[in-house]
Amino acid sequence: MENEDQIKQELQDLADKLERYDRAYHQQDAPLVTDAEYDALRRRAEELEARYPHLIPTNSLSRRVGFAVATGFQKATHTVPMLSLGDIFSEAEVVDFMDKIHRFLGLPMDAPIEMVAEPKIDGLGFSAWYEDGVFTRGATRGDGMVGEDITENLKTISELPKKLQAGNDLFDAPPKILDVRGEVYMSKKDFFILNENQEKIKEKIFANPRNAAAGSLRQLDANITAKRHLQIFAYALGAYEGQSFKTHWDFLQTLKGWGFPVNPLIRLCQTTQEMLDFFHEVGEKRAGLPYDIDGVVYKVNDLALQKRLGFIARSPRWAIAHKFPAEQATTRLNKIRIQVGRTGAMTPVADLEPINVGGVLVQHATLHNADELKRKDIREGDTVVIQRAGDVIPQVVRVVLEKRPKNSQPFEFPSVCPVCGAHAMREGADAVTICTGGLTCPAQAMERLKHFVSKDALDIEGLGDKNIEQFYQLGWIKNPVDIFTLQERHEFDLLSLEGWGQKSALKLFDAIQRRKTVPLNRFIYALGIPEIGEATAKDIAGYFKSWQSFQENAVASDASERLMKIDGIGVAMAKEIVDFFGEEHNQKLLGNLLAFITVENAMEETGKTPWKGKTFVLTGTLSVAREEVKARIQELGGKVSGSVSSKTAYVVAGTDPGSKYTNALKLNIPILNEEEFKKLLDEALK
Ligand SMILES: [Zn+2]
Repeated sequence: MENEDQIKQELQDLADKLERYDRAYHQQDAPLVTDAEYDALRRRAEELEARYPHLIPTNSLSRRVGFAVATGFQKATHTVPMLSLGDIFSEAEVVDFMDKIHRFLGLPMDAPIEMVAEPKIDGLGFSAWYEDGVFTRGATRGDGMVGEDITENLKTISELPKKLQAGNDLFDAPPKILDVRGEVYMSKKDFFILNENQEKIKEKIFANPRNAAAGSLRQLDANITAKRHLQIFAYALGAYEGQSFKTHWDFLQTLKGWGFPVNPLIRLCQTTQEMLDFFHEVGEKRAGLPYDIDGVVYKVNDLALQKRLGFIARSPRWAIAHKFPAEQATTRLNKIRIQVGRTGAMTPVADLEPINVGGVLVQHATLHNADELKRKDIREGDTVVIQRAGDVIPQVVRVVLEKRPKNSQPFEFPSVCPVCGAHAMREGADAVTICTGGLTCPAQAMERLKHFVSKDALDIEGLGDKNIEQFYQLGWIKNPVDIFTLQERHEFDLLSLEGWGQKSALKLFDAIQRRKTVPLNRFIYALGIPEIGEATAKDIAGYFKSWQSFQENAVASDASERLMKIDGIGVAMAKEIVDFFGEEHNQKLLGNLLAFITVENAMEETGKTPWKGKTFVLTGTLSVAREEVKARIQELGGKVSGSVSSKTAYVVAGTDPGSKYTNALKLNIPILNEEEFKKLLDEALK
């Protein structure tokens, strides 16, 4: 009998070799061996693995293409949140962005700050976690805090190293923990091939490479992912334990050394002009690149400066996305339709002759409201100029009047709801026309249901818009509670419905089952309270922590005041929340819903907030910029006020303090010099 240690060693060698060859082939376009040699090695590995399945190494080729079918995505909590970047569109905004950085750091406006410029890949963000150099977990961005576990899917991407190449110029050993962030994308070529095949087998056609990449990556059956040719670029760092980096540029070079594909166009820029030059150069190359990009990203190179700059709300201060301008095209407007939203808003929508705008097939455009429609005098049959920018719904910019048909008629905005026939009413100054049908209007009810199950709300997979509409019309799902009793009421009916089988039905019921436990912020957002978007729902959840506490406060006699204590909630939002809880039918719905759903309490904030409720006042000249001092205070939960009052906790006084100093003396408020403030800060951070 052969020695198992030897076999194990041979299998490991084969796996390492095959991985290296794969990388050379896919990543550097430079095969190291002939196809015949590659195949011989692969066959040898398969042969040995069949006989010694217990010795298969983690980075084996077979593990990368044959995969267990998962029953559903597990949650994957990001140790370091995956935040998104702010967007800017003009050169003036780039200048402004750099000015803000200078101001924050208290530097003269002409002080050089080295930046890294990178193309912004139009793909799907991922996180790949390595322990001692071995890939152990992959995740999607999700909501930035919690993503989906896509470990099996990421494993199928040959460009992603399953084991880091250690012993390169910079590192002797792989880091203990490495959480690499990057983008999964599909090349334009592979996108067209995929769509051709999809058409042949009468499957879903993808609108653009980004959607195709997302659809391919988020497959419960990783074998499907493996068949789609996905690629990656790595560009950011999440959690990390290992030798430290000084600059982002060094980090990117190290990523390359470890075996990650890093975009070859990245460049170091010393001035704002060089950043703008990069933007224009990349813009010119855009059409010829094998992958889609939608702009460029600028990042402060010095990691110590990045740390000082920190974050504002959910985006870093040290990086920004400079997006390409909107793309325009001309097409025919076939029909103007009125869409009724979940709050009853009647929005005119243009049905267009389908047209390709920047790689995306556009068939509809929003016309906003009756006033806008009238102002632009948009009519059915017109030739119109449309534009799209990023993920924004395409818009009609203007009518090409020379091409207007002779018999054209101005569009008349309906005075009744096209769905339920109820009287339409103009509401407020914002030109919105509202269907007064309320709960009796099927359009509003359906839109509310769609919102309830949407991605940022309960995120019930398999319950898309089409299904909601069908189930609503069949009378199976009339309100959110019906979703959770669908299986017991209509399991057999569903099986006999066209397009449904045992497998797809069970998949749907399983997806519903999994959403019976829902995070507080998602539940609040799902309720569809007017004005309460995803970000506000998060703020509310973070403040009240539990559903019970939120509800108790929202029905209190002084509910508005209580709600307005939350940062970002003003009079209008507070009123909507109070109105929502004041409606009897909403109370009834909540009661019924909570019989089926468990709402999870919001997680404790990970950051320390020892200065919560403490107000600071700054006066005089400090050695660091005020912006930065202010940010430090806010990060610890404190507030900075412009004037001293009895509520002030501390006055921080630099040189030449003003009247705030004397006011503080009068009111007996503790006054700290900069040295003392730093001590307090250090203690708070402990
Ligand atoms: Zn209606």
